[in-house]
Amino acid sequence: MAHILVVEDEEKLARFVELELLHEGYEVSKANNGRDALDMALERDFDLVLLDIILPGLNGLEVLRRLQKEKSTPVILLTARDAVMDKVSGLDAGAVDYITKPFAIEELLARIRVALKLHQVSEEKKEEESADPGVLEWGKLRLDMRRHNVFYDGQEIMLTNREFTMLQILLENQDIVLSRDTLLDRVCGYSYAGETNVIDVYVRYLRTKIDEVFGIKLITTVRGVGYVIRSFQG
Ligand code: CA
Repeated sequence: MAHILVVEDEEKLARFVELELLHEGYEVSKANNGRDALDMALERDFDLVLLDIILPGLNGLEVLRRLQKEKSTPVILLTARDAVMDKVSGLDAGAVDYITKPFAIEELLARIRVALKLHQVSEEKKEEESADPGVLEWGKLRLDMRRHNVFYDGQEIMLTNREFTMLQILLENQDIVLSRDTLLDRVCGYSYAGETNVIDVYVRYLRTKIDEVFGIKLITTVRGVGYVIRSFQG
């Protein structure tokens, strides 16, 4: 279950929120001043921080700014009523939401659920994006664009530049049938005046070097249209 840091110097309120969160099944830690809050939030990976703005030591906005420099922990601010500037500065500084005191606990819980969910989704997206963009894979085949090499099951396949480019384009467009004209433009460049059957020749070379050696069926011919690499089916 999510671990939430409650930062609030009004002890009664802090205790009340803590009990409600515990009741909902969250794990809860508390801090009653800005410095402790920042130390704790930097040291441990909380799933969310509920942060009061007016705090002794370091105010909530400062805690937020310093925390955001280091981490992406979502923060919900607790603000006093009518403190419009605090809300604006808080959101500018990266808070995901704020709630005005006094608040109904149900509203706070709802906002916490939303913030946790949004954070989870954005973290998953980040992970996907950080997958190495320079590598294309198809089963045991691995094409590395930066190192300009191709391996099948750890064994290197020696390709010419054009064979490599052709394979790269097909791997980048899995499940999209590419016409000979399209392939010719992209493999040989627009200025190339040759016949499109040069593409058939490259496909034949690739099949000789990959399909025949490793006993796989990589490039599919779509008669009358062109070529495609279908996404890998384990
Ligand atoms: Ca306060």
